[in-house]
Amino acid sequence: MKVDSSAVQAAVNAAHRDFRPDQGGENASYIPYLASVNPALFGISVVTVDGEVFETGDSNFEFALESISKVFSMARAMDEVGLPQFHDKVGADPTGEPFNSVIAVALHGDKPLSPLVNAGAMSTVSLIPAGSAEERWQKILATQSAFAGREIKMSDAVNNSEQSTNFHNRAIAWLLYSGGTMYSDPMEACDVYTRQCSTLVTAVDLATMGATIAARGTNPVTKKAAISHPDIVPPMLAEMTMEGLYTASGDWAYRVGLPGKSGVGGGVLAVMPGVLAIAAFSPPLDAAGNSVRARKAVAQIASALNLNLYNAS
Ligand code: GLU
Repeated sequence: MKVDSSAVQAAVNAAHRDFRPDQGGENASYIPYLASVNPALFGISVVTVDGEVFETGDSNFEFALESISKVFSMARAMDEVGLPQFHDKVGADPTGEPFNSVIAVALHGDKPLSPLVNAGAMSTVSLIPAGSAEERWQKILATQSAFAGREIKMSDAVNNSEQSTNFHNRAIAWLLYSGGTMYSDPMEACDVYTRQCSTLVTAVDLATMGATIAARGTNPVTKKAAISHPDIVPPMLAEMTMEGLYTASGDWAYRVGLPGKSGVGGGVLAVMPGVLAIAAFSPPLDAAGNSVRARKAVAQIASALNLNLYNAS
């Protein structure tokens, strides 16, 4: 399926115009850095599997990747560990709970419910084969960079802000450890997980990362493979469908019909496999933790372009 370039740019422009005035939501405040980002920022980008890039607004502003990082660490773990082995250790179920839920640990000795919320994400990090935490971190950073097609860097300001307030995540890491579902030192996994959330991307980077998923793991701009096993892409998309937008994941699947992922930094990503990815960023979040403007913009662009996985022809 091909999309018409002028239709894509028109949809991107219309979404920016329509939702820029929206004053709904509030910046995440539990991480001090995120509370300080200008709430008026709003950027949108679409990147196609042919490498065409569309953008508008604050599409070059660098924001914290946060929870969206979980998609790329999941990719690295699936790619290196193997799909059956990964699925044996981390589930693919919606949690019905907020991103930092303790329930998602699966307290009764089962595997964590999803790699896309904090509990399963820290297990996922611990599963990436490495001789040290630093090596594991460098693999994750290299994976984010390969998907984005440029060198992604961690922000010390974001990381310091998170590391000094992430007590809840440390508690989850110890719970995973006590349940036998943490595969490295738990504090190291929490540290690496916190770093992976603290990298900076633009809306264009995020759309490119999504387009790499849409193109079965080959970055459509650099033409380089970001993963070794393209067969991990369908399960990645399944995980995104199940838990990509926190407690709003089901509603998102129902209304939009595209695998997605959001982060408390204000980013929202949606992927139409084989076609393109849509990314938007704006800091104020709704009660579920999804960016108000970005969520609406991505949904409207998908609808305008007739992109719905459950309505594909
Ligand atoms: N670093 C954040 C945390 O673990 C990410 C949360 C998110 O974006 O959902 O609290």
